[in-house]
Amino acid sequence: MISEGAAVQMPLWSEQDATWSVRESERARRMVVRVFHSGRVEVVVPVRTPPRLIATFLERHRQWIERKRAEARRTAVAPQPFPPVSIELPACAERWRVHMAGGIGRLRLSSAEGLISISGDAADRAALRQALRLWLLERAREVLEPALEACAREFGFSYERMVIRRQRTRWGSCSVRGTISLNACLLFLPPPVVRYLLIHELAHTRHMNHSRRFWQCVAGCCPEYRRLDRLLIEGWRSVPAWVFGDGEP
Ligand SMILES: [Zn+2]
Repeated sequence: MISEGAAVQMPLWSEQDATWSVRESERARRMVVRVFHSGRVEVVVPVRTPPRLIATFLERHRQWIERKRAEARRTAVAPQPFPPVSIELPACAERWRVHMAGGIGRLRLSSAEGLISISGDAADRAALRQALRLWLLERAREVLEPALEACAREFGFSYERMVIRRQRTRWGSCSVRGTISLNACLLFLPPPVVRYLLIHELAHTRHMNHSRRFWQCVAGCCPEYRRLDRLLIEGWRSVPAWVFGDGEP
């Protein structure tokens, strides 16, 4: 019990808590803490950082971490069955039914006309998730590549190439070399939000920052950008659990 006014602080994290992890990284130059949408907290620290320093660092960011975790709890989605019965892709107005065909041996996935058919030994959940994730990446490429091209043409942007990634923390990015990375999870968002994200990344080919001129450029192509940017933040809620493997049975 904590008595009034006493400066007793409960430890922010403990080794036993599975939702916390501290990871040493060769590349890390400073400590970084991330709170995932699942509520999981990851602390990345330079190699051989003394635990005392980690504790101080976490204490300093305690309020921020608690706030982010509370947000994650509020927006947590109910556990969904796995494998999913169907996969909704609002970005391209598609609904794919998932059919488990049974059988033995290596898992095989084929898809056509709104039906994903999976055959082979489905007892291997990890392989099943992997197959669906690969399918998602492929579908994202098919849908987002022409969308990005069309958007670039419409507003006169140019970029070098597009890559599709499956990421937990960002919807897209643009490198100095003009490579635009798009998150496959964009397929779970409504078309206007996806279009805004494409414009946002394309605008980075002209302004590699979030300066006033960058936002003017975005606003010129997408006057509703403020509202859509907020929807993008909420959009993580629309990503099914199997995409990242958090909280599934
Ligand atoms: Zn940006």
